[in-house]
This record gives sequence, C-alpha cells and structure tokens, in this order.
Amino acid sequence: MIDIASPQRLRLDSDALVHNWCWLARHGGAEAGAAIKADGYGLGARTVMDRLAAAGCRHFFVATWGEAAALMPLPEGVTLSVLHGVGAEDMVAARMIPARPVLNSPQQVARWREAGEGLPCDVMIDTGMNRLGLRVEEAMAGALDGLAIETLHSHLASADEDSDQNGQQLAAFHAVRTQIAARRYSLANSAGICLGADYGFDLTRPGIALYGGIPRREAEGHIRQVAFPEARVLQVRDVPAGETVGYGAAWTAPRDSRIAVVNLGYADGYLRCHAGSGGGRWNGRKLPLVGRVSMDLTAFDTRDATEIAEGDWVTVDYDLPRESAACGLSQYELLTSLGARFDRREK
Ligand SMILES: *Cc1c(COP(=O)(O)O)cnc(C)c1O
Repeated sequence: MIDIASPQRLRLDSDALVHNWCWLARHGGAEAGAAIKADGYGLGARTVMDRLAAAGCRHFFVATWGEAAALMPLPEGVTLSVLHGVGAEDMVAARMIPARPVLNSPQQVARWREAGEGLPCDVMIDTGMNRLGLRVEEAMAGALDGLAIETLHSHLASADEDSDQNGQQLAAFHAVRTQIAARRYSLANSAGICLGADYGFDLTRPGIALYGGIPRREAEGHIRQVAFPEARVLQVRDVPAGETVGYGAAWTAPRDSRIAVVNLGYADGYLRCHAGSGGGRWNGRKLPLVGRVSMDLTAFDTRDATEIAEGDWVTVDYDLPRESAACGLSQYELLTSLGARFDRREK
C-alpha cells in the first residue's frame, strides 16, 4: 500500500485530556466516567479511551452498538455502556459484545428481559427532558422489577443555564433513587458537574469538557484545550493592495499582502461561519482568515509571518468557547463536524 500523508492533522493533547478528566472527577465529587460517543466527539474514541483508562477512568459511554464494536477489545477493568439501548435489530450485537445497554423505554426493558439471561444493564429515567428514558411513573410502577441494574441514569436538560429545571430534575432523581435499586446512580454531564457535588451521586458522565469545552463559568481557568486542527499551506501568493481574494471577492487587500492558501475547508467541517473571525497560527504568529471559506481551501493573511512557505503547517484557532462565541456554532458542533480527512494523532 502507498502511504499517503494527509495534509490535515487533528492533534489530541492527551495530557490536557487527562488533566480535564481529573478536574471533572474532583469538582464533581464523584467517580468520573467519560462520554466517547461520536468517535470521542471527533477526536478518536480509541485513543481517548486508552488514555483515560490508563488514568483510572472505568466507565465509558457510546451511542450505538456499532461504536461499541469498534472499541473492542476493551482495556482491562473497563465497562462500556450503549446510550441508545437495544432495538430488536441490536440484540445479536448486544449478546456478543461485552458492553451493556442503557435501557430507555418499556419496550427496551421487555426486550432485554426476554433475552432472559439476567444480563446486567443500565437504565435511563427521564426526569423532565423528554428525550430518552422511562418516565418516572413507569419506573415507579414496577416496570424495572427484577432487572439487574448496574447504573441508573438520568440526564439534565438545562445544566448549562441557571434554570429552575436543574433543581427539579435533581429532586426527581433523588425520589427515583429511594425507590429503585441499582449498583450506582448517575445524573451529571459536564455542565451538571459544574453545578456542584450535589449533582454528582456515584458516577458522572462528562463529555464536552473532557475535550476542552467550557459548559459553564465554573470550569473557566480549569479546562485546557485538547483538540488542535492543523493544515498544510498549499500555496503562498503575493496579492497587491486593492486586489481581492477568493469567491465573491469578499476580501480586498488593504496593502500589499502575502496570503497563505491552506488545505482546509467546509468539507472538512471548517464551516463558512468562520469567515470574518477565524484565524490560524504559524510559529506562534497570528494569521487572520481572509475572504470566504471554500470547500477544501481557506486563505490566511500572513502579515509579518513573511517566511511562511508551501508545505508548512498552520495551526487553526480552535479554542472552543472563543470560536463558538465568534462563529455561532456550539462547542459540540465545532468538534464533531471535523471530517474524515484529518489524520487524528497525539500531540
Ligand atoms: C453525551 C452525553 C453526555 C455527555 O454530555 P456533555 O454535555 O458532553 O458533557 C452525558 N450523558 C448522556 C446521556 C449523554 O448523551
């Protein structure tokens, strides 16, 4: 096979990842697991799992059985839960793969019971989000009797805001906990962890904050950037003052300029909303994005970085809270939209 080097890399700073996980475990007042669905929020679920397992993380969460299968074999002493539970079409996979479903509906509970082997499972109770999970009344009315529940979960709808819904869901979860036996109880995602140890119970399920997202003020100054997209310079060109760059002639050179055209575009998940606010860095020097983002190309003004050359790497600005505020995408979208062309590797 020919080894074809990608002109794009997505660097994962695993020291920062582990640092963030440790902070979340301390601040949450409970053992911390890790949500690694959507390929570890786009960073590479296998690497994330290996690094966090080595740091002591024992509980991981994916969305689907396909994601679970891709993570086999699991590191020693680690458990994996599948958040979407089991559909009829998942039962073969669910029996074969050493992961457990998070049962979300009476139908899923019945399906798991019929499998009949007393296999362990997790259960999701909906305490007010109305997304996935059994209703509290269903759970209290005996729908879960006889199940071997490892972790009983609920999920917060508004934890990133100072909403009354947080306290309401917390109270509902406490009530469920007194009625339904499980080995452990889990409520908080990243934002829920920031709400304080009252929300911690036995296990937390951080996702976005592991990867450098700041869900609430409480995490500011504690969470480090983890994901660093980089792309190669394809061409460096001199653009005389008054000429324009790119589609729609959206940027006019205010002075004689040197422009670096980089191997990155909206087909890679670097979306057009970055125009006007995005930027990159080369040897520590700032390169503002100019003009529109194309499908596979983006132009940067090199300013005083005049020695920049074809083939050099530009690190794209990707501080999640800052870019999210500037371009309007959520911190989650910024990570999970990064495409398959990136070569995912550690820093
Ligand atoms: C994705 C997910 C999480 C992680 O949420 P973050 O906001 O990324 O921390 C936790 N719990 C459930 C049920 C999820 O689906």
